[in-house]
Amino acid sequence: MDILEVREVGKSFGGLQVLEGISFSLTEGSITGLIGPNGAGKSTLVNLIGGADRPNRGEIYFHSLRVDHLPVWRIARLGLVRTFQVTRIFNDLTLRENIRLAGWTGGLRGRKLETEVDGIMQLCELETKAGVPGRDLSLPEQKRLQLARALALKPKLLLLDEVMAGLNPAELDRAIQILRVLRDRGVTMLVIEHLMRVIMGISDRVLVLHQGSLIADGPPEQVVGLSRVQEAYLGRRYVQ
Ligand code: ADP
Ligand code: MG
Repeated sequence: MDILEVREVGKSFGGLQVLEGISFSLTEGSITGLIGPNGAGKSTLVNLIGGADRPNRGEIYFHSLRVDHLPVWRIARLGLVRTFQVTRIFNDLTLRENIRLAGWTGGLRGRKLETEVDGIMQLCELETKAGVPGRDLSLPEQKRLQLARALALKPKLLLLDEVMAGLNPAELDRAIQILRVLRDRGVTMLVIEHLMRVIMGISDRVLVLHQGSLIADGPPEQVVGLSRVQEAYLGRRYVQ
C-alpha cells in the first residue's frame, strides 16, 4: 500500500523553477533514497511534503488524504515527520529534555512520555548522554538526537534530510543500523543522502533528482548503473 503520493508537483521561487512535474509514490514500510547534486531541489521537495512550503502545482497525498494545503502541525500529527539539513536542537536543554519536549509536542504525557523517551534514547544509543546540554554534544550525538526527536513524534513517514552528513564510517554504520530497526518497526523513510555507500546500503529504491526533475527511479544497483545518472552528476568517486 502507498503511504505517500506526490502527483505532478512543481515549485518555483520568483522566476526560478526549482521542481517540475515530480510524481512518485512511497510504499509503506520501505526506505527510499533521494539523491542528486547540490541545488537539485531535494530539500525543497522535503519542505513541500512536510508542509513547510507549498507547491505551485500538483498535489500531495498522505494515506490518500490531500495534505499539500494543510498547516505543518496538522501534517506532523498525521505522522509525517521531517528532520532539517541544519541541526535544530535546544542548546540550553539537556539531551533528555530535548527528546521529552518533542514527545510532549507529539501529545505524549506522564509515564507514557518517560517510557517512550527511555526507549528512544536506548535505540539511538544516547542513554549515557541524557543529562548533557545540547551545546556540549558532539556532532554525531547531535545527529542522533535529531533523529531521536523526530522519533518522539511517532512518525509513520520519516523524511531525513542529510542526517548523516559529517559522520565517520563507524558512526555511519550505527546510524544505518538505527534506520534498519525503524524500518523493521514499520516506519517508512525518505532519506536524502550524499554518500552512495549509505544509499546503497539501506535503500529499497532510489530516486534521482537533477535540475528539478526526477531522472531515475528504481532499485539502487540499477539506478547507479544508468548512464544518464552517471552523466548527470555521479562521477566515478560516487559510483564505486
Ligand atoms: P538541494 O537540497 O538538492 O541541494 P534545494 O532544494 O535546497 O536543493 O535548492 C534547490 C534550488 O532552489 C537552489 O537553486 C536553491 O538556491 C533554490 N531555493 C531553495 N529555497 C529557496 C528559497 N526559499 N528562495 C529562493 N530560492 C530557493
Ligand atoms: Mg538540501
